[in-house]
Amino acid sequence: MKKDKILVIGACGQIGVELTLALRKMYGDANVVASDLREEHDLLKGTGPYVSLDVMNKEMLHVLVIRHNITQIYLLAAILSATGEKNPLLAWHINMQSLLNVLDIAKEENLDKIYWPSSIAVFGPNSPAKETPQHTIIEPTTIYGISKFAGERWCEYYNHRFGVDVRSLRYPGLISYKSAPGGGTTDYAVEIFHEAKENQKYTSFLSENTYLPMMYMPDAIRATIELMEADAAKISIRSAYNLSAMSFSPKEIGAEIKKHIPSFELSYEPDYRQQIADGWPDSMDDTLARKDWGWKPEYDLEKMTADMLQNI
Ligand code: NAD
Repeated sequence: MKKDKILVIGACGQIGVELTLALRKMYGDANVVASDLREEHDLLKGTGPYVSLDVMNKEMLHVLVIRHNITQIYLLAAILSATGEKNPLLAWHINMQSLLNVLDIAKEENLDKIYWPSSIAVFGPNSPAKETPQHTIIEPTTIYGISKFAGERWCEYYNHRFGVDVRSLRYPGLISYKSAPGGGTTDYAVEIFHEAKENQKYTSFLSENTYLPMMYMPDAIRATIELMEADAAKISIRSAYNLSAMSFSPKEIGAEIKKHIPSFELSYEPDYRQQIADGWPDSMDDTLARKDWGWKPEYDLEKMTADMLQNI
């Protein structure tokens, strides 16, 4: 039997650091190779193998996969929503080519499993905003959303055409304290905690009643690992699963923080990210993830807020 050997690409990002540490606990430190363009993140130092990698260089990636006997890849490198709008062609190029490089090497080397995250950004203003279903109108209006939607189609195509076992989740906005967010539209929900603790005030770049689907990082890491551990026969979606935990507005998270820090003051100055948020769902229907592989979130707004404020 082949031994699991995992490559995490984009391991120094908001998700990558925590996912790499979680995978190292499960599979053994030496069996999870972390890689990124950036310098190794402080939290990863000394915890396992680290290589410098540009995922856009397919040859280098291929050599790395062969040299380390990689059997699974988690591809987390991407340009996120807010950053993507500043340079749309670059975002398209990086988000697409990184995925195509990984899928094609998975096919050529007959790798066991691939993980690549999609996003709630695949939905657009014409999708139903509340409890957005798995299968519905998908007309993204940001380049990030367009690249994620195209990526989902490529994943399903590589699965159906070539049998690549690729799995994906449409993550909501992710909230965490260990590593900083990387330029998304939901970053306000991380910044707000840091500012509340340091300065007891925050100016939100989204308006007070902008609802978005959100999730605390421990739930996102667990969902990712549970999906990847699930029996392949249970995976009915080979594009990307809707995934849900909570939905709140800046006003609601502000009120929750005020319960812990009564002097906290929240103001609003919506910028270009408001328009991105306005096109995204308020909440998601993740019935299929629950049914197929037993997804159940643990953190709601109250529990997450208490944990964030305790740990920051
Ligand atoms: P991030 O920006 O924090 O991290 C991405 C990492 O990829 C960075 O460390 C960056 O240095 C690295 N990277 C960029 N280009 C690279 C390249 N060419 N080669 C190698 N590494 C490269 O992003 P994240 O928040 O950790 O997101 C990871 C994935 O999850 C992305 O696909 C993102 O679209 C998706 N996602 C994230 C969220 C969220 O709220 N964080 C929500 C939905 C989907």
